Amino acid sequence: MPTVVIAGAGLVGALNACFFAKKGWNVQIYEFRRDIRTMKHVQGRSINLALSQRGKSALEAVGLKDYIVDQGVAIRQPYGQPGEHIVSINRRHLNEVMITQAEKCENVKFFFEHKVKSVDYENKKLIVQNISQPSRIPTFGQKQTHQDHQEFEIEADLIIACDGAYSAVRRSLMTLPRFNFSQEYIEHGYVELNILAKNDEFALEENVFHLWPRGHFTLIALANKDKTFTVTIFAPFDEFEKHMATPQDVLQFFQENFPDAYELLGEQHISETFKRVKPQPLVSVKCSPHAFFDNLVLMGDAAHAMVPFYGQGMNCGFEDCLVFSEILDKIGDIGESIREYSRVRVKDAHTINDLAMYNYEELKDLVNHSSYKLRKKFDLF
Ligand code: FAD
Repeated sequence: MPTVVIAGAGLVGALNACFFAKKGWNVQIYEFRRDIRTMKHVQGRSINLALSQRGKSALEAVGLKDYIVDQGVAIRQPYGQPGEHIVSINRRHLNEVMITQAEKCENVKFFFEHKVKSVDYENKKLIVQNISQPSRIPTFGQKQTHQDHQEFEIEADLIIACDGAYSAVRRSLMTLPRFNFSQEYIEHGYVELNILAKNDEFALEENVFHLWPRGHFTLIALANKDKTFTVTIFAPFDEFEKHMATPQDVLQFFQENFPDAYELLGEQHISETFKRVKPQPLVSVKCSPHAFFDNLVLMGDAAHAMVPFYGQGMNCGFEDCLVFSEILDKIGDIGESIREYSRVRVKDAHTINDLAMYNYEELKDLVNHSSYKLRKKFDLF
């Protein structure tokens, strides 16, 4: 059976591992972090995520859809197709379930605390550094010349880069001729907070998406299975610096702008969160192609990080796995499959990326602009 090496065991890397485990391939996954299943706190992006039909279809193909959907909270949309709804799910739980599912196959090996450094594209190898203590030696017969913290090379029939928005693999491809790349940081950042259950019940209606639009800043809330809500404030970095710099300022800001949410979040929680966490940036990345040589492909945020206002970053990454799996099953040859994948996928990824940016404008300006003006601005007529 062929060997696939996956960079990154985040959401898209872990799902890809499930797909290739099912195909019976030898699968090696190299992940920078420790195994999240053994960690008390996992630092990273949003606590919960909206799983849509796109993501559900991919999970269904590896037999995980029903289990995952059952672990989430249904969010009803009056404009959705009958029977379809998005589901609010816990990021960490989802990631853990997929790692465990992939690991059930003995041909799958996760190497945590292994940092992918770059691609040696002349020799079609991945350069990896073992950053764990003590060393855990990879198997499957590649050259095992490495010692602790030394770099080593890995060859594979297929390499899939799922190492996120700041992908090391993508970075090392930047000097290739005809590789197109663009990135944009939007002026907004975000901070996540938490509303606890009230008398063991949800403090707000659970099956809806809560939105407090305030012109150039916005608060949203999504329910969790444990009856808490993850609340996210999106605001320009300027706004964070001017009006949320001190504990007093931040409390006043919430009290004035979101009086009902302020009561539910509580003074202490708001102050402690803002002391502990800095606003996080949001980046949008586009590149093309997504396939290189005859054995390397970028997927998920490594290929198309997008702003989160369309709730499709992970969903689109999950769809990448499904689309590629189907193409590979149909074509068979790896080189031809990755080229066909890139041909069909780049256009779709760019489109979802643009829609996410459009929704960013729509959400922040919901109060101030008519939809007509926004559609004009984005030339959508
Ligand atoms: P990541 O989740 O970033 O995983 C990358 C993995 O690679 C990580 O485990 C990382 O440790 C590892 N890694 C990185 N560098 C290396 C390296 N050099 N070597 C080895 N490993 C490495 N999407 C939705 O669909 N719905 C939502 O509701 C939603 N909400 C969001 C809210 C916010 C605030 C944000 C910021 C994003 C949101 N997204 C949402 C987008 C979603 O988080 C991403 O699209 C998704 O996480 C992409 O998965 P990924 O596996 O490609 O990348």
